[in-house]
Amino acid sequence: MEWIWWIFVFFIVGGFGWIADTGRTALRTRHERRIERFKLQEHERLALEQANKPPEPVCGCSHHLAKHDRQGKCHEDVEAPMEWDENKKPLRFERRQCNCQQYIGPQPLSQIYADELTDLD
Ligand SMILES: [Zn+2]
Ligand SMILES: [Zn+2]
Repeated sequence: MEWIWWIFVFFIVGGFGWIADTGRTALRTRHERRIERFKLQEHERLALEQANKPPEPVCGCSHHLAKHDRQGKCHEDVEAPMEWDENKKPLRFERRQCNCQQYIGPQPLSQIYADELTDLD
């Protein structure tokens, strides 16, 4: 009846291996799930931040709203190519004022300052 012990041992070893394996897998999936959840939270946080942040007031000419005067004219300097080589690659640049005539872009929301709530007692 010695062979029965060998089967017994075989099952114990195999069983332990299986348990260890399952445990490892469970641990890994739990860890992955935690990472996924963390990533999701991070994603939600970023989306929320994006939603709360007003868009950058940047004009179609790629210059900031602050560079435009009240008439809308842009005062930022740009490098305009003056000379080109045979491959139409600019060789020389000249700084001149951006020729944007009107600011076109998101208007910044006026900041709202709310008075701190005071306890009425
Ligand atoms: Zn502009
Ligand atoms: Zn401009």
